[in-house]
Amino acid sequence: MKLLLHTCCGPCASATIPLWAGRGVEVTGFFHNPNIHPLLEWRRRLTGALDVAEVTGVEMLQDDAYDPAAWFASVVPGEGSRCRRCIGQRLMRTAQEAAALGCAAFSTSLSISPYQDHEAIRETGAEAAAAFDVEFLYEDLRPVYGESRRLSREWGIYRQKYCGCLISEWERYRGS
Ligand code: SF4
Repeated sequence: MKLLLHTCCGPCASATIPLWAGRGVEVTGFFHNPNIHPLLEWRRRLTGALDVAEVTGVEMLQDDAYDPAAWFASVVPGEGSRCRRCIGQRLMRTAQEAAALGCAAFSTSLSISPYQDHEAIRETGAEAAAAFDVEFLYEDLRPVYGESRRLSREWGIYRQKYCGCLISEWERYRGS
């Protein structure tokens, strides 16, 4: 089965790619993260994802469309959680790409992170799957988060200090 794996960063991909590949799934990565600010940080994380792709021997596709203004306009206003809309936007775009590539399913490396909203991942992934008629594979991979930390250190992969958007950077550093 061909699986398009939304890849948020190198560290999360480091354990997620081998896990899916070890089940006989043909994995292709897809870096689509317009939520990462500023641009130089986005480039660092893209480089980290490409480094992991090289080590694990998978193809890493990248969506070069990077427009923070459009991202803020679509994600920040409105009722409900900003993070849910952020995750949903990325999974919707991944499902669209999976359908275009003829993949049977898609998933996301976000599912390894204890810092992400897993209910939002599950629910918005299901919505994206229905929109593009591609299966969404969700699995709670938080138990192997430690393995991703170990592998990314061992492989010298860039590790970020905040989730992605300017708001998360402010939340991370405002007290320091
Ligand atoms: S904190 Fe992370 S998940 Fe939430 S909106 Fe910012 S980048 Fe997206």
